[in-house]
Amino acid sequence: MAPSASHSQSLLPNPSILILDRIEQDTDRFRLRVHVEQDPICPLCGEVSQSRQSCYCRCLQDFPWQGVSVELWATVGRFRCRNSSCPRRIFCERLPQIARAYGRQTERASEIVRLIGYVAGGLPGQRLLARLSIATSDDTVLRRVRQKPGQELSRLPVRNLGVDDWAWRKGQEYGTILVNLDSHHVVDLLPDRAAESFSAWLTQHPEIVTISRDRCGLYAEGAALGAPQSQQIADRFHLILNLSATMERVLEERSRQLILPPVQDTPAELQPASPGDCNTDVPSPALPRLTQSQLRRQRRLERYEQVVALFNAGESQAAISRSLGIERKTIRRWLRRGEFPERKPPHRRPPKVNEFADYLQQRWNEGCHNASRLYQEIRQKGYQGKRAMVARFVASWRKTGKAASPKAPERISPKHAAILVTRAADQMTDEQQQLLDRITAQCPEVIDCVR
Ligand SMILES: [Zn+2]
Repeated sequence: MAPSASHSQSLLPNPSILILDRIEQDTDRFRLRVHVEQDPICPLCGEVSQSRQSCYCRCLQDFPWQGVSVELWATVGRFRCRNSSCPRRIFCERLPQIARAYGRQTERASEIVRLIGYVAGGLPGQRLLARLSIATSDDTVLRRVRQKPGQELSRLPVRNLGVDDWAWRKGQEYGTILVNLDSHHVVDLLPDRAAESFSAWLTQHPEIVTISRDRCGLYAEGAALGAPQSQQIADRFHLILNLSATMERVLEERSRQLILPPVQDTPAELQPASPGDCNTDVPSPALPRLTQSQLRRQRRLERYEQVVALFNAGESQAAISRSLGIERKTIRRWLRRGEFPERKPPHRRPPKVNEFADYLQQRWNEGCHNASRLYQEIRQKGYQGKRAMVARFVASWRKTGKAASPKAPERISPKHAAILVTRAADQMTDEQQQLLDRITAQCPEVIDCVR
C-alpha cells in the first residue's frame, strides 16, 4: 500500500525523526515500514557518530487503527562510537519519544497499557486491551503499572515530599507511596508500611526539606530517623478530613437546626439533586411506621443504658460485647460519645412526581381533578413513576380544594453541611455558597467557629 505522504506520516509517534516508507496489510494487522533520520548519539558519552556499522529491524507495537493492530517496523542503525575515552565501542541508535531501549511497544501504547492496568488490574486489563486490539499479557500489564516513572522525572531532586499509605489489599496489606509535591509525580512505591523502610529510603535523599504526612506515628518515626534535617508537617488532606469528621459529629447533634426554611422561588439548581442531600416534603408517613421507629429507638436506648451501666460497674468493653452481643466497635463509639447517639433522620429522595408539580397545579386549577387522567397526561411528558404517587400528590388538594405548591422545608444532612463548611471559599459554586449562607443563618455559632 503506497502511503499518502502527509496524513500517514502524522500518525507516527515523533514524526520529526521517523519517516514512513510503506504500509503493508496482513489479515489481522498493519505493518508500517519506517526508517529513522536523526543524528545518532552514543547513549553512554553523548557523542554523535556517523560511522554506521550495520542496521537491523526493530518491531514495536503501536496504537491500533480502527480495531486492527499496528506494528512499526523501524530500520535502525548500529554505530561505532569514535570517542576514544568512551568504553562503548558499538551502540544501537535510540528512538527518543518513540520507545525505550529494548522496549517492544511504543511509549504511547505502553502508557495506555499502564493506565488501563491502573484502572482494571492485570487480567481484566489484558482482556480489555485484547478487545482494543492491543495484544499483551497480564504480566506485562502489571509490569507497566509497577514501572518506575520516566528517568527525567525520577532524576528531579525531591525537596518537598508527600508520604501516605496505599492498599495492596484494603484493610489487610498496605504499602507506602512517595510523591514529589513540586512536580506532583509519584517518586517511589515502597512494598510495606514501616518506619524502617521509609527511613532507609530517606537516607538516600538528603536533599529533602519538608515531609508532608498523615498523623500516623510510623511515618513520623521514619522521617525522624531517615531525614532529621527535614521539617515534618501534617498534610492538608488529613487535616481537612479530620475537621470535616469533627464538624459532622457537631452538626449531627444539632441536626434539628439543619432544616432550612423554604425559599421563595428557589432556582431549579438549588432543588435537591441527589438522594441524601436534602429532603423536600413528602406525604406524611403512615402512623404505624412512626410508632415502630419510636419502638426501635426505645430498644436501642435500653441497650445503650445497659452498656453504660455495665461499663460503670467495671466491665471491660470485650466482656460487655460478649454478654450483650453488641460489636465492640459500637460499644467503643457509644462510650466515647458520652451520651445516647440519636439516629440520623432518614433522608428520602423527593418523589419523581414533584418534577411535574407545576404542570399538575396548572391542570388542577383548570378543573382537571381526576388522578388517572393527570397520571396519563404527565406520563406523556416523561413521568415514569406510579399512578398511586400522583393520586397521593393531589390528595391534599382534594381536601382543601386548592392546589398548593409542594415546596416545604428542606433538610440538609450533617455530612453534606460539614463538607460545605470545611470547603475553601474559592472552590465553591454559587449554589453551594448560597446553601452555606442558609446553613450559617440556621446555626451561626457552630459555623462561625471554623470560618
Ligand atoms: Zn560513546
